Amino acid sequence: MNIPNDKNKALKATYKRVMVPNYSPTGFIPERAKGSYVWDKNDKHYIDLGGGIAVNCLGHSNPDLLKALSIQSKKIWHVSNYLANESATELAKSLTDLTFADKVFFCNSGSEANEAAIKIARRFHYLKNDSKDEIISFTNSFHGRSLLNITLGGSAKHKEGFGPFPESIFQAHFNDLKSVEKNISKKTAAIIVEPIQGESGIQPAKKSFLQGLRELCDRNGIVLIFDEVQSGLGRTSHLFAYMKYGVTPDILTTAKGLGGGLPIGATLVKNSYAQALDVGSHGSTFGGNPLVCAVAIKVLELISQPTLLGAIAEKEEILVNGLMDLSLKYHSFDAIRSAGLWIGCDLKRKQEVNTLIDCCYAEGLIVISAGPSTLRLAPALNISKEDLKESLIRLEKALAKFSN
Ligand SMILES: *Cc1c(COP(=O)(O)O)cnc(C)c1O
Repeated sequence: MNIPNDKNKALKATYKRVMVPNYSPTGFIPERAKGSYVWDKNDKHYIDLGGGIAVNCLGHSNPDLLKALSIQSKKIWHVSNYLANESATELAKSLTDLTFADKVFFCNSGSEANEAAIKIARRFHYLKNDSKDEIISFTNSFHGRSLLNITLGGSAKHKEGFGPFPESIFQAHFNDLKSVEKNISKKTAAIIVEPIQGESGIQPAKKSFLQGLRELCDRNGIVLIFDEVQSGLGRTSHLFAYMKYGVTPDILTTAKGLGGGLPIGATLVKNSYAQALDVGSHGSTFGGNPLVCAVAIKVLELISQPTLLGAIAEKEEILVNGLMDLSLKYHSFDAIRSAGLWIGCDLKRKQEVNTLIDCCYAEGLIVISAGPSTLRLAPALNISKEDLKESLIRLEKALAKFSN
């Protein structure tokens, strides 16, 4: 699109010159945002159904989060972990009050939360001297981009050229207990699984699969780790997806939505596993940063309210019904999967999701992908029904162009 005096263009040129080319963002650059609205440098208006990849769970510039940030910013920003701090302690208290967990380790991202989970599991067995160090992860999974996490993950592309990789990691088939049993040995230390796989397009585990994993882990002394980095914080209309399934892990990792847009990760554990990280065994300079934790306390308080979680099902229905109607009219999707305000639509036209995304941008709608052929939606959980309806109108215009 050629806009006279395009303010996005100049900055985009600089971006290209100075940024490592691992991302390929589109032509517009967001300038400011409020709630589920974003404006670019030309002041064009967008509705945000991407949510910064399930991060902006309470929308942009949420007034309650702004207030928490502002108050804490005038008190203390950073101390690191040779000093304790009140925000981190209070946040850990909230997280343990609201979940199965007894104790929390804080870090700054989902990758680091998983790194800590695997380290805890291996060290737990090391301290028991039972020589278990093998990890089982799953096909099509995503756990982050560190060397450990790409080794756990199911993407060959993410690994290409980055080896050698950490050892003793095996991959079983998602939703296939027999394949898990085949991979279990006397040396299996942990199994890590996303209860609902996000990056592969909102693919839910079967309840019987998670129950089966729980039983296998109990029977064989294996640590069960749920990666809820994307599925947590109300995304599925439950605070965490494990609550929806009624299957409790030994360790749970969370990040993305937890800071409401600020970087934070956390590894939640039961007491018996917490003891594996004794003094000096692991750490993070920024982990538990007071400023981020003060905001996360507020995020958790707002997200865990039954009114917010209870309103998600109706919004999910508006979106899914709208998507089904549009799919009928424009022959767009092979499948539509949803888990709360978290939706994956497989395009009939494979490998073309970026074209559709560009059509959406042109109509003032921000959406994201999951792989090359799946449209993903992960809007703010407090998005209004009116904004959802307006976003469906914009999506229809985009699909009409895309289908041409
Ligand atoms: C995003 C994501 C991660 C990685 O989180 P980062 O903050 O990017 O390191 C890990 N696991 C899952 C399930 C995710 O969706």
